[in-house]
Amino acid sequence: MSSDVSSSGPQVTVLTPEGRGAIGVIRVWGKGAVEAADAAFRPARGKGLAQTPRGRLRLGRIGRGLGDEVVAVVLELDPPAVEIQCHGGPAAQGMVLEALQAVGAGAAPADQWAEHAMPTRIRAQALVDLGRTSTLRTAEILLDQAWGALDRELAGLAARILEDQEAGLMRLDRLIRHGQVGLRLITGWRVVIAGRPNVGKSRLLNALAGYARAIVDPAPGTTRDLVSVSTAMDGWPLELVDTAGVRAADDAIERSGIERALRQQATASLVLKVLDRSEPLRDFDRALVSASHPSLLVANKADLPPAWQPAELPSGAVPIVVSAERGVGLEELSTAIAEALVPAPPEPGAGVPFRSNHVERLGKAREALRAGDAESAIREIEALCL
Ligand code: GDP
Repeated sequence: MSSDVSSSGPQVTVLTPEGRGAIGVIRVWGKGAVEAADAAFRPARGKGLAQTPRGRLRLGRIGRGLGDEVVAVVLELDPPAVEIQCHGGPAAQGMVLEALQAVGAGAAPADQWAEHAMPTRIRAQALVDLGRTSTLRTAEILLDQAWGALDRELAGLAARILEDQEAGLMRLDRLIRHGQVGLRLITGWRVVIAGRPNVGKSRLLNALAGYARAIVDPAPGTTRDLVSVSTAMDGWPLELVDTAGVRAADDAIERSGIERALRQQATASLVLKVLDRSEPLRDFDRALVSASHPSLLVANKADLPPAWQPAELPSGAVPIVVSAERGVGLEELSTAIAEALVPAPPEPGAGVPFRSNHVERLGKAREALRAGDAESAIREIEALCL
C-alpha cells in the first residue's frame, strides 16, 4: 500500500516507541529518501551515503555541531528507504530528525510509514501496535495480524456470508468475541482488589505482583491511596489496583480513598473480592459477595484457623482460598484471573480485530446481518480491508 505522501517527497519516521532506550531507529523513505539522508549524513570517512552500495552499513554523524554518531544504511532503492540508527531517547532522536527535516524530509507518523511499507492497512496497524505491546503472548497475536490473519479472516467471512448467512453470523460473532481480547493487547486489563480494611489486599497485591509496592500495616485503613502495578498473568498484561478498604469511614482522607475505590470497581475488567477467612463474616462482606460485578471471590489468611466455612457465603459463592502471606493458592488464583479475563483465547493464527474501528465496523456488519441485509454487512467488512 503506497500512500500519496510517498510520491511527494522524502519522509522521516521514528520507528522506536517513545521512551528511553540505547538505540533509536529512524527511517527515511519515499521519493528522494537516499538524497535527503545523504545530504544530512557526514561519513566518518570515505564517500557519501548515496555512493555506498545498498545494504552496507556506514558510520558517520548527523545533526548540528558535532551531531550524533549514527550508523546509516540504504535498505532499498525502489522504493527508496534508508535506516539510521542513532542514540536512543528524545534528545538524540530529535537532533537527527531536525537535521533530516532541514534537508527537506517531512515528518510522518509511524502509521503512515507502516501503510507505505505493508500491503494492507490492517497489517500496517498491526506492525505499529506490535511496538507498543508488552508480552510475548500479545505480540504473537499482533504478529499473526501483521502477517495477514485478520485480512484472510475478513475475506473468508465475506465469502461465507454470501454462501450461508446463518453460518456467516456465527463466524462474525466469534470474530467480535476475539475483538474483546484484541482491544486489550496494548492497554491490558484492569483488575481491582476490593474488600474491607485489613483483609490483606495490599499483601495480596504484593504477592501476586511478586514485589513490594503497597504499604502493609496492621492498623486498619492504612492503604489510603490506590496502588497499582503492571504485571501479566498467563501472558495477558494487566494492571492490579489495590483500593482503600471499602467501609464506612469517619476520616476525611480515608473517605476520599473509599470513594475512589468504588469508582475503580465500576471501571474494572474484574474485581477480586477479598474476605478474611480468619475473622467472622460481617454484613459488609456479605454485601460485597452479593454485589454484581465480573468478579472472583478470594478467602485470604488460610494459614490461620478458619472463622467461617464457604457454605455460609450467600448464593452458593465459591471462594479461592489463599494465604497472601505464605504464598499459598496464588498460582490457582493467577490462573483463575487469566481465565476470567480471557475465557476463550484466540487460537494461534486466528484473525483478531485489535483496533476499536475494527470492532465497531464488525458490530455494524452484525446488525445488518441480523436484519437480513447481507449486502450491507459485506460492505462494512470490505470497508475494513481497504
Ligand atoms: P488491607 O488493609 O486489606 O490492604 O490489608 P493488609 O494487606 O494491609 O494486611 C493487613 C494485615 O493482615 C497485615 O498485618 C498483614 O500482614 C496481614 N495479612 C495479610 N495477609 C495475610 C495472610 O495471608 N495470613 C496472615 N496470617 N496474615 C495476613
